[in-house]
Amino acid sequence: MTIVVQKFGGTSVESNEKMQQVCNIIKDYKDKGLDLVVVVSAMGRKGAPYATDTLINLCKGVNDDSSKRELDLIMSCGEIISGTILTNMLKGYGIDAVFLTGSQAGIYTDGNFSDSRIVDIKPERIYKELGEGKVVIIAGFQGTTESGEVTTLGRGGSDTSAVAIGKALECKNVEIYTDVDGIMTADPRVEPEAKVLDYINYEEVFQMADKGAKVIHPRAVEIAKSGAITLNIKNTLNPSHPGTKISGMSPKFEVNKEEKSINTMTAVAHTSGVAQIKVKSREDIFTDIMDEIETNGISLDMINFFIEEKAFVIDHDKLNSLTEILKAHKLDYKVKENCAKVTLIGSKMTGTPGVMAKIVRALSKAKINLLQTSDSNMTISCLVEEKDMKNAIHAIHEEFKLN
Ligand code: ADP
Ligand code: ASP
Ligand code: MG
Repeated sequence: MTIVVQKFGGTSVESNEKMQQVCNIIKDYKDKGLDLVVVVSAMGRKGAPYATDTLINLCKGVNDDSSKRELDLIMSCGEIISGTILTNMLKGYGIDAVFLTGSQAGIYTDGNFSDSRIVDIKPERIYKELGEGKVVIIAGFQGTTESGEVTTLGRGGSDTSAVAIGKALECKNVEIYTDVDGIMTADPRVEPEAKVLDYINYEEVFQMADKGAKVIHPRAVEIAKSGAITLNIKNTLNPSHPGTKISGMSPKFEVNKEEKSINTMTAVAHTSGVAQIKVKSREDIFTDIMDEIETNGISLDMINFFIEEKAFVIDHDKLNSLTEILKAHKLDYKVKENCAKVTLIGSKMTGTPGVMAKIVRALSKAKINLLQTSDSNMTISCLVEEKDMKNAIHAIHEEFKLN
């Protein structure tokens, strides 16, 4: 039995026409005699009638303080709707198929509503249905706790469902179908010169996902790495394009004699909707409130601590809770709203001299104010004002010749 796991994202199943294209892809594989497990997302993006955001708004529309348990239940309906429709459509094409919810597929999670982790997959039911010659369609983004509570895996989590199922079924490859030709050097919606990468390694794509590139869920990459699964990112509407392969191999490393750092960088990712906070405080006082910040679920990013001042970045939606804490401790602070984080990623960052200098030069040439930086062994992040984000991405993309 050669099992292929495929995942189709929201835009791939947003309309009858797109679902027909999905059916064509499934039929091609079926005709080759492969056993297929297909993971689906909810239909369409924000604004679409059965999209995850629409379901959330339905629930919050009657009570903004909806409990996480009920929110997870309503969110899980999106994938059930798309999965049942796709299954019916396949049957209409004469392909035998069965739809399973996360729970019916044996996907067990911890009880952390809205951001749960898969703790186990019991694939017996999947094997049974495959054994009967059926295409098995599974709702992505959801699972069940041992006690039967429905949970969701965090926004964008259908990728994670697909890769975890692939790992449970001991697959070597998982195919992720989306609305772009593959992983690109930047989000093509923001950077017109972004180009598709043939290949990228787990670490780099994890950093991209972690730094805001929504094309793949970071946890899906972690699971793929742990199972040595090659991910193939492909375009549902352009399936003959080879797409991007993600695996553990070393990336291509080309050194240009004149300018050594060229071709050692891989991509630029971005996150908008963040705020910069600067707090004037002595070390001991700030250490005390760190616990309070953490228990309120506020995560601090780009942390720069100086003796007299602490600077860091948080998501906009946590701003009110953070300022309440700072006020309660009578701390002197400044907030800069509407910022964005733009991150350059490259696994050869360490050991490549002058990367930061090139970034600073590129941003200054583009007349962009650099508010703060942070780095790791394969990333350099720059905080800029949101109005400058697009230009900053373009300037860095061009400076490192990613196009
Ligand atoms: P799906 O619904 O298929 O899961 P997503 O919206 O989650 O699709 O992811 C695909 C989108 O990711 C693309 O439409 C693109 O705008 C965005 N994206 C962000 N960064 C990148 C990147 N580096 N390469 C490709 N796509 C990216
Ligand atoms: N439908 C879910 C979301 O919009 C999961 C996914 O699309 O991966 O976040
Ligand atoms: Mg997605």
